[in-house]
Amino acid sequence: MTHRPAARPDTPRYLTEERLAIQELARQFTRERVRPLADELDPQQGTIPDSLRDEMAELGFFGLMIPEEHGGLGQGVFEYCLVAEELAQGWLSVASLLARGNGMGGEFTQQQCKELLPRMAAGEYLGAFALSEAEAGSDVANLSCRARQEGNEWVVHGTKMWCTYADQADYLVLFARTSPKDPAKPHRGISAFLVDKQRGTFPEGVSGTKVRKIGYHGWSTWELSFDGLRLPESMLLGEEGRGFYLALGGLEVGRAHTAARAIGLAQAALDDATEYAQTRRQFGGPLTQFQDVRFKLARMAADIEASRQLMYHVATEIDSGRRCDREAAMAKYVASEMAERVTSDAMQIHGGAGYTTDFAVERHWRDARLTRIFEGANEIQLRVISDDMLGALR
Ligand SMILES: Cc1cc2nc3c(=O)[nH]c(=O)nc-3n(C[C@H](O)[C@H](O)[C@H](O)COP(=O)(O)OP(=O)(O)OC[C@H]3O[C@@H](n4cnc5c(N)ncnc54)[C@H](O)[C@@H]3O)c2cc1C
Repeated sequence: MTHRPAARPDTPRYLTEERLAIQELARQFTRERVRPLADELDPQQGTIPDSLRDEMAELGFFGLMIPEEHGGLGQGVFEYCLVAEELAQGWLSVASLLARGNGMGGEFTQQQCKELLPRMAAGEYLGAFALSEAEAGSDVANLSCRARQEGNEWVVHGTKMWCTYADQADYLVLFARTSPKDPAKPHRGISAFLVDKQRGTFPEGVSGTKVRKIGYHGWSTWELSFDGLRLPESMLLGEEGRGFYLALGGLEVGRAHTAARAIGLAQAALDDATEYAQTRRQFGGPLTQFQDVRFKLARMAADIEASRQLMYHVATEIDSGRRCDREAAMAKYVASEMAERVTSDAMQIHGGAGYTTDFAVERHWRDARLTRIFEGANEIQLRVISDDMLGALR
């Protein structure tokens, strides 16, 4: 990884001393710990070790956005995205793990905040998100998993798809239908639940099958079957029947976080390609003697910076308490499309070496591809943007 200076005399004002310090901390951690682990474990489809999770907790990463009164650092989305971008330069899954703390689950009661947030900030209570289903991905309001009340318990039946980290997490945030689907308003009657579990296993009434992925290694993604999982009444998150809104509530932050992850992947690919182009010699000199290679690198850098500035803007808007659905969708869309392009160009600069598993650029490329699909496929981002511009289609 090329070492870029953290601060320059002309550093923009919004990159305050404190933000630069957080960024530098994450940059150093990524360089020394995340990247070497990813280089070793990704080719074997290995798992992020618990020791790395502990180190991230030690640095305060899981509590970045958790208020200080609950044991966190009380920072905003801006700082969260700065850290995510750095971690993604090492390994996408580690940058995603960051989101499994930081208040994931949304609507906790005061009592749950008191009990759970300090444990989350300490990295002892990290979650997995069980929203998507095989037949309800983009159209997630169409979900079928159901929870039926029996006395003072909920009993869950159904399946979930794509639940990443379901095995290693300490809890699941599960979305299930608690009243029959109204075809005219399918988003109504969905509720969210907190499912406590032991790390490394599934609770009674839940079983899982691993999804075979082409990337996003470091953790497993699961298809889950719920066959009579019993939950105490108190595990309902927020109001019954309002779970869909809870899922939507985190979308702006999720989109900013995904933009940050895509930018991190692209930056890592650019750094690797720059280093490679400076050392690889053809026609009597380094690849950087060719204008095409120089221009490619320049275009990659310009595209990354444009996405980064949009992501900074969105993070600032969210931290200021202003709604920015359209801009957040734009940031996710622009950054992820850019990341696929830039990582592919970085692979091209590596020539044949880029198509081997000896260089990390193939990992950046595989992982960047995912950022166009998950957290709302890019076609859905375009729908959000165009609906905001033109009004929804009838
Ligand atoms: C590796 C991985 C990890 C994931 N982790 C999680 C997780 O932890 N938890 C979780 O809940 N989910 C997770 N997901 C699910 C992810 O969010 C969905 O895959 C994504 O939302 C797309 O849904 P889908 O796969 O069902 O695609 P579909 O909805 O079937 O879409 C297929 C294609 O049709 C397009 N399309 C669909 N509807 C429209 C429309 N209205 N207009 C235009 N185009 C449309 C889509 O954009 C896409 O190109 C993960 C997915 C992957 C691949």
